[in-house]
Amino acid sequence: MVAKLIDLVFGCKHSRYSFPVTVRGSRRPQAAALTGTYVACLDCGREFPYDWQQMKVITSSAEKRAYVAAVAAKPAT
Ligand SMILES: [Zn+2]
Repeated sequence: MVAKLIDLVFGCKHSRYSFPVTVRGSRRPQAAALTGTYVACLDCGREFPYDWQQMKVITSSAEKRAYVAAVAAKPAT
């Protein structure tokens, strides 16, 4: 109960995630909208964007901003 409240207020603090799933096409889940790849938390079932380049799960808005900045900094190919 307390853990659920902490989850709601601070977001997912778990560390066990499913293998990253890469989604192609337009029917992406919300979590994959950012990177095209997402993982699901094995403890609470929430889905998070996953950054293959950094090999890490993006769980906070600060990390999202960092990801977007890193992508924007790359030259277009
Ligand atoms: Zn979780």
